Amino acid sequence: MADQLELLKQLQGVDGQLHRLRKALAQKPRELEQAAAPVKAQEAVVKTAEEQLRALQLAQKEKEIDLQAREASVKKLQSQLFQVKTNKEYSAMQREIDSTKTDNSLLEEAILKGFDAIEGATKRRQQEQAKFTQLQGQLAAAQARIDQESAGIQQQVAELERARHVMLPDVPPKALAVYERILALRDGIALVPVMKDACGGCNRRLPPQVINKVYLKADLVTCENCNRILYFDDAHSSL
Ligand SMILES: [Zn+2]
Repeated sequence: MADQLELLKQLQGVDGQLHRLRKALAQKPRELEQAAAPVKAQEAVVKTAEEQLRALQLAQKEKEIDLQAREASVKKLQSQLFQVKTNKEYSAMQREIDSTKTDNSLLEEAILKGFDAIEGATKRRQQEQAKFTQLQGQLAAAQARIDQESAGIQQQVAELERARHVMLPDVPPKALAVYERILALRDGIALVPVMKDACGGCNRRLPPQVINKVYLKADLVTCENCNRILYFDDAHSSL
């Protein structure tokens, strides 16, 4: 029985590492997701900057077309000016020309301001795009690091699994079945030391008769609370 417990302790050493490594491996996709989040966010910022620029360009185009039409109408009115018969008609038409010209110069001012706005928006888009490219580079580096870490963990897992395989034939099947059932249920820890008269897994205080049984090593003794197999570890025991 003492040998059996010793074998289980060795197995637990391997399984504990396997459990930690598999857990770390399972975290990797989430790590990658977190690394990708800023890139995604910046992609949206670039898109917005692009949309703002396009809207400004479109508004500018509309103003330019509007100005052309108004300038054409001024020319038309000016040519008609010589065909009018009365002074009254003449001054009415002249007023219309003057008012259209005033509107046009306001429009020209707006177009000039539009150029400034487009220039600013173009610069903003370039800046956001540059930031996006930079973040993409960071993500690529993070991805490479995560891939490398994952590969390293997978290699360690494979080595430990091989070691485990070698150990298994020596463990009595019945004890192994008990151990593996608890291992699956208890987060990769099936075997725990007695620590200060309490279970090293769940910290529940152990009755003296249970501690005695663990001490005798006559049989596998489990914690009544968490079902883990108990043993005495000289380093941790209070005895
Ligand atoms: Zn326990």
